[in-house]
Amino acid sequence: MGRIRSVRLIPLVLLTWFLTAVAAGGQQPAVNGEAGAAKKPPNIVFIFSDDHAIQAIGAYGSRINETPRLDQLARQGMVFDRSYCTNSICGPSRASILSGKHSHLNGFMRNGDRFDGSQVTFPKLLRGVGYQTAMIGKWHLETDPTGFDYWQILPGQGHYYNPDFIQMDGSRKRYQGYCTDLIGDFSIDWLENRDPDKPFLLMSQHKAPHRNWTPHPRHFGKYKLGTIPEPETLFDDYSGRSKLLHENEMTIANHFHWGHDMKFKGPNRFPQHFAGAIGNGEYARMTDDQKREWDAYYEPENEALIAQLEAGELSDDEVTRWKYQRYMHDYLGSVAAVDDNVGRLLDYLDENGLAENTIVIYASDQGFYLGEHGWYDKRWMFEESLRMPLLVRWPGVVEPDTRSGAMVQNIDYGPTLLDIAGVEVPDEMQGVSMRPLLENAGAKPDDWREAIYYAYYENDAVHMVPRHDGVRTERYKAMFFPRTREWNLFDLETDPQEMTSVHDVESYRPILAELQSKYEELKQQYQVNTAIIPSTRGDEAWWKQRDRAKREQAKEGGFDLVFAGDSITQGWEGAGKEVWEQAFGDVKTLNLGFGGDRTEHLLWRLTRNQMGPNRPQAAVVMIGTNNTGHSMQSPAEIAEGVTEVVRTLRAKSPRTKILLLGIFPRGASTDDPMRVNNQQVNERISRLDDGESVVYLDLSDVFLESDGTISRDVMPDLLHLSEAGYRRWAEAILPTLNRWGVVAE
Ligand code: CA
Repeated sequence: MGRIRSVRLIPLVLLTWFLTAVAAGGQQPAVNGEAGAAKKPPNIVFIFSDDHAIQAIGAYGSRINETPRLDQLARQGMVFDRSYCTNSICGPSRASILSGKHSHLNGFMRNGDRFDGSQVTFPKLLRGVGYQTAMIGKWHLETDPTGFDYWQILPGQGHYYNPDFIQMDGSRKRYQGYCTDLIGDFSIDWLENRDPDKPFLLMSQHKAPHRNWTPHPRHFGKYKLGTIPEPETLFDDYSGRSKLLHENEMTIANHFHWGHDMKFKGPNRFPQHFAGAIGNGEYARMTDDQKREWDAYYEPENEALIAQLEAGELSDDEVTRWKYQRYMHDYLGSVAAVDDNVGRLLDYLDENGLAENTIVIYASDQGFYLGEHGWYDKRWMFEESLRMPLLVRWPGVVEPDTRSGAMVQNIDYGPTLLDIAGVEVPDEMQGVSMRPLLENAGAKPDDWREAIYYAYYENDAVHMVPRHDGVRTERYKAMFFPRTREWNLFDLETDPQEMTSVHDVESYRPILAELQSKYEELKQQYQVNTAIIPSTRGDEAWWKQRDRAKREQAKEGGFDLVFAGDSITQGWEGAGKEVWEQAFGDVKTLNLGFGGDRTEHLLWRLTRNQMGPNRPQAAVVMIGTNNTGHSMQSPAEIAEGVTEVVRTLRAKSPRTKILLLGIFPRGASTDDPMRVNNQQVNERISRLDDGESVVYLDLSDVFLESDGTISRDVMPDLLHLSEAGYRRWAEAILPTLNRWGVVAE
């Protein structure tokens, strides 16, 4: 019953809208165009691709390819020159677009996360006011789409050749053909069969040109090997910037796979030049006819290279150059099919009288390295992957052939489309409507943002890009690497390729300070408290090894007492070892102390089930001093981190009693700033004591001399405990553990 009613209600909503608009003389917010004649709210065609860098779009000045249909869209509309993502990777960018929020708030921070489809998204809200909504193509958010009348999506990354699509009933259907063309077909089919009385939102989202770049035969040889210009930074040595750049595993020189990326058949013949693990899965999907066509093009080129390699004719750099050419042939060929299909949709709108009242947007989930810095892939906050193409055509509103230099971000798309459709933008969306830019030839209002915030979270993952975040203004970019606590600063006017960080150049000190303060301001604005954002340190070898070992140990099960914290807790295995044996030797006890961890790292370990199947009787928790020590994070933020740790433990094991310890005193004297910061954290977390499940204990007096100083007999470095210190710690908590029956008296 409910379903039938809602279907009948929608036209009424629109009718009401129409009548109100007429009555108001065309002054309703959703009504555009000539006064007095109310028009239907504009349709929206959102064409999205995956990994399409602006360096490969004519309208952005490409030196390497041609995109006539995208350029047409640009000429008829507006090009955004300062368009950025929040988090340069596939799933997170999509989640930011749908939710209008940064990754840490929409919950999709890394590929492989699951999008919470119950949250507010712009398609849902548009559907709520009568838009017919469709999502066709690459989705990549793990859970089923919500907010769409119709969807048909690729599973995960999807395939180029003869792809499977997930249907709304959950079944999978394989189609013969080329993915980019099929998504174009399905998009046009949906337009053909939609309800013509309703405005629509069509999200037509391509897999292309995502790895492993696989062109349609009509684009074989469109860009010939040896003819494609190289970027200036193809042989970047990563000097002059964070030392973490050296750890990257995304170079053309060393990380392309023989089959998957470079399209050779059979086992890797030249392991000194190619990675070998991943074969070309696309070839395996092809029909015999497709394989014949493929081989006819690729095999002669492949054989020619193999012959040269066998003859030892090529230097390493020459091999890298060849790989760049093959990469670009395939990437740009994949882009060409996207361009074709943009053209098909534009033609369809023209031929069906829809162009006038339809906003057409073209964007891609992030940028990509086309050999710049020697790379493929994305992730970094450097320009090539931070920037997103954004073209918007809106007849009658956007002046043709205009450009905007205003800083926009993917969180703005939802608010913009809602604003245009006359829907109030929900407070929880963090983006802002770009409508003023669209209506004023790209000129920005006085109060437009001056900086954007960016954060990448997927460290300890493919390509070994460290976690980092930062801020970009029109001229400068500051990047922060939490693992090494390094800042990098780039002056994009003097160093547009970002080859040298000037963070420690005297004349740039004030600029860095300014950007750091902007960074803090933006983190406040976007509610970024790193203390509560679970974060791995798995890109540090010792940490990863200890994590593995602890998980193995936890699997044994039957642990009654868990200690969780940082190096001070880990020290029970060092200076505190004997005391530990004496005090807790009769109890099965698991030490989850990790040196250098902050609240966010303990949260990662707990939320990723480091405790295994154990539901201990008690957990002793002390964490937070590194949040103070590493960056003097505010007591309020750190206290939130500790609170989240307690909440996570409680949720995981409600039977476990938590003995929450105040952060131990540190530093020589009572006015040591770090000690003061920790005390302020303790004041806050002491309130978590509920006298039952959580008991708070402040052990300051146990470690301090009567004058408030710390004896080096207890804390030799005024932070970590000696054996005598561990003895004091054990003695101080045993009464509580005895009372709880965890440790026998
Ligand atoms: Ca992508």
